[in-house]
Amino acid sequence: MTLFEKIAAHLIPADIVYEDEHTVAFRDLHPVAPVHVLVIPRKPLARLSEASADDVALLGECMQTARLVATQLGLDDGGYRVVMNNGDDAGQTVPHLHLHILGGRPLTWPPG
Ligand code: 5GP
Repeated sequence: MTLFEKIAAHLIPADIVYEDEHTVAFRDLHPVAPVHVLVIPRKPLARLSEASADDVALLGECMQTARLVATQLGLDDGGYRVVMNNGDDAGQTVPHLHLHILGGRPLTWPPG
């Protein structure tokens, strides 16, 4: 089981803000913004580049969860960023596909 599968299964603690049949959203352990939430599919895809055409609906579910959670956490007015790191050059550290929702302050662009 991946670390994030264990969080999704409530086997290790996390501040879960949303969950449904296919996705789970929880606060990042080391937030880099006032709101920093991760959205994962329950299915343990390692990264976007390992997804297939069979995962199109699941990837859409992740985006839908990100949208719902951003609204739930009051980010719609100020705006927010949704990021997915894929592989080493992007700085991916946990090999279970996830979206970062970042908000609650102005965010710089481009990222470093
Ligand atoms: P990545 O760098 O792979 O895109 O993002 C992984 C994220 O997972 C990081 O922002 C990191 O802080 C977060 N993270 C790592 N381990 C844990 C954990 O055990 N619990 C939670 N809630 N977040 C974690």
